[in-house]
Amino acid sequence: MREVIKKHGLTASKALGQNFLFDMQLLDRIAAVPGSLDDQSVFEVGPGPGGLTRALLQAGAKVTAVERDERCLPALSELADHFPGKLTLINEDALALDHGSLFDGPFHILSNLPYNVGSALLVKWLSAPQWPPQWQSLTLMFQREVADRIVAQPGSSAYGRLSILAQWRSTAKLAMTVHRSAFTPPPKVMSAVVHIVPTAQPEGVDFAKLEILTQTAFSQRRKMLRQSLKKLPGGLEALEQAGIDSQRRPETLAVSEFVELARLLS
Ligand code: SAM
Repeated sequence: MREVIKKHGLTASKALGQNFLFDMQLLDRIAAVPGSLDDQSVFEVGPGPGGLTRALLQAGAKVTAVERDERCLPALSELADHFPGKLTLINEDALALDHGSLFDGPFHILSNLPYNVGSALLVKWLSAPQWPPQWQSLTLMFQREVADRIVAQPGSSAYGRLSILAQWRSTAKLAMTVHRSAFTPPPKVMSAVVHIVPTAQPEGVDFAKLEILTQTAFSQRRKMLRQSLKKLPGGLEALEQAGIDSQRRPETLAVSEFVELARLLS
């Protein structure tokens, strides 16, 4: 991979969140997180020079990769030549792309995400209107601190809006931590890979309701729920109907309690 970078004169761009991985053993471990990818379709965001892409192709996946930086395309085209018919490249902004229209059937999403757009992409994938979504799993690299928020349990300081959005109709686990020195150039902070798999959606609740509820509740995380939820129409009534003590703070509520509150909101 280092030779690929050298050959194509790819200097990492900070603006595009470029921190490349070259260690093929590590990349193989990341590609193994969702289970066997043999004959499976994969959507990869930000292939860069193609390290993870190569690991995915070697695992037998059919990959569609969207990369914003056109400087990476010659290196990726060379990789496509090595795996004929297995790699489709799209030179676009992943945030603007309707990824669902790219696939006929189910697919997995894997990415060493650009940190500046990571959370926005995660929320986009978690907010799929149909559930279970067309994607079967998410295997995503985040800054450690963001990964901790995604998998956090009630009572911890990391627990918040992102934990609930990621856990109310999915399981979210920390698959591995990755030392900053594994990247070129090394970022300032540690990283971790999160693995998310959809589960059944609780009835009578939609994503939008839960998003507003969690945003309101955690906008004042030190305050009692009765303070923050009075701003939501029907918020205090929902607390009462659910039998949740209005003096509790948001970080003490289980995901299932947030789901129940969202269901009861008018
Ligand atoms: N996958 C490569 C690896 O593991 O070495 C590169 C990962 S690097 C952290 C993130 C990649 O995402 C970069 O190649 C960057 O150009 C690309 N990128 C940044 N913003 C993007 C966007 N909005 N849409 C698509 N790709 C983007």
